Amino acid sequence: MTTYKPLSVTFDKGDGVWLYDTDGKKYLDCISGIAVCGLGHCHPRVTQTIQDQAARLVHTSNLYRISHQEALGAKLAEVSGMEACFFGNSGAEANECAIKIARLYGHNKGIEKPAIVVADHSFHGRTLATLSATGSRKVQAGFEPLVQGFVRAPYDNLEAIRTIAENNPSVVAVMVEPVQGEGGIHVPKDDYLKGLRKICDDNGWLLILDEIQTGNGRTGTYFHYQQHDIVPDVVTTAKGLGNGMPIGACLAQGEAANTLKPGNHGSTYGGNPLVCATALTVVNTLVNENLPQRAGELGQRIMDGFRTALAGNKAVKQIRGKGLMMGIELNRPCAELVGQAMEQGLLINVTSDKVVRLLPALVMSDEQADSMVASVSQLIKDWAAQQ
Ligand SMILES: *Cc1c(COP(=O)(O)O)cnc(C)c1O
Repeated sequence: MTTYKPLSVTFDKGDGVWLYDTDGKKYLDCISGIAVCGLGHCHPRVTQTIQDQAARLVHTSNLYRISHQEALGAKLAEVSGMEACFFGNSGAEANECAIKIARLYGHNKGIEKPAIVVADHSFHGRTLATLSATGSRKVQAGFEPLVQGFVRAPYDNLEAIRTIAENNPSVVAVMVEPVQGEGGIHVPKDDYLKGLRKICDDNGWLLILDEIQTGNGRTGTYFHYQQHDIVPDVVTTAKGLGNGMPIGACLAQGEAANTLKPGNHGSTYGGNPLVCATALTVVNTLVNENLPQRAGELGQRIMDGFRTALAGNKAVKQIRGKGLMMGIELNRPCAELVGQAMEQGLLINVTSDKVVRLLPALVMSDEQADSMVASVSQLIKDWAAQQ
């Protein structure tokens, strides 16, 4: 179905930060399959794990114990400070699990119609519940009736959430992205997550963080909340977790970890041996090679580079981001930049009409990063000069 309008290029080989199209042309990938291939394309250890596990055992279903799933759950718990984990096959499914936990948590407290506070400009997925939670009319339009039980608040505004707390006794949880991705790379103020944690504690709400894009090292720590000295009740992740293998995880601690009981939730092939073995290799590689820290440092280098290269350019409204999740907001819609970059062998993305988004692999070298900064800056300067 025409759910996407793909660019007219087909890739048939990948190696680290490089992609090769069917004519053999080479591209510097600055988007990593939308923050998925954090270890780069065809990372040797990931490839080896897929090959070995595919030859040994692919799927059995959750009717039986799965050692790789247990090992991955334990590793993620260790890395995150969470206690329990549910595995699905995508980010949206991870969020569906989080939403179900919040609703059941509310019902267990005797709240008949539990509500979840969600933010403007958020993105949580394309299933009916997650698109209803999403703060974008474009994502929702045509799919009404929306799923009920979401209360919307402006992002990065603690006062608005306090007002909701005073007026809405049905609220049971807050769900936000610690840095908004699809909404245009919005980094909240430093006290935001801590403030949310306190409001949730004061009101008996669950704090649910959607780290589907920010997780797995992308912003400088394994999960973004680890830069803010808080622990959420529920955290969801996907994208970078499987380096391309479809997997999503919903992690929880405390009461949220024990809310779902047998029969409440499930997935036929969520957490199967193949994806879990692969994701375990991904997590181990990220952690053992200190790649989250590397992402933070490299991101700083790249942002400094852009700030220098684009200083004083009137078309550039703001350069922002965290780690390797970066956005350059321009003064008018700039979708044509994607095709212009592609001609030069450079893969970038534009989100929210005016924001050039870069999500390079965590294994990108300094030299490759400097070359990316030079090329993207020149592209933007040429584009700006054309007006
Ligand atoms: C990509 C994304 C999702 C949806 O993930 P899918 O795997 O496409 O279902 C949800 N939340 C955030 C923050 C995302 O970036």
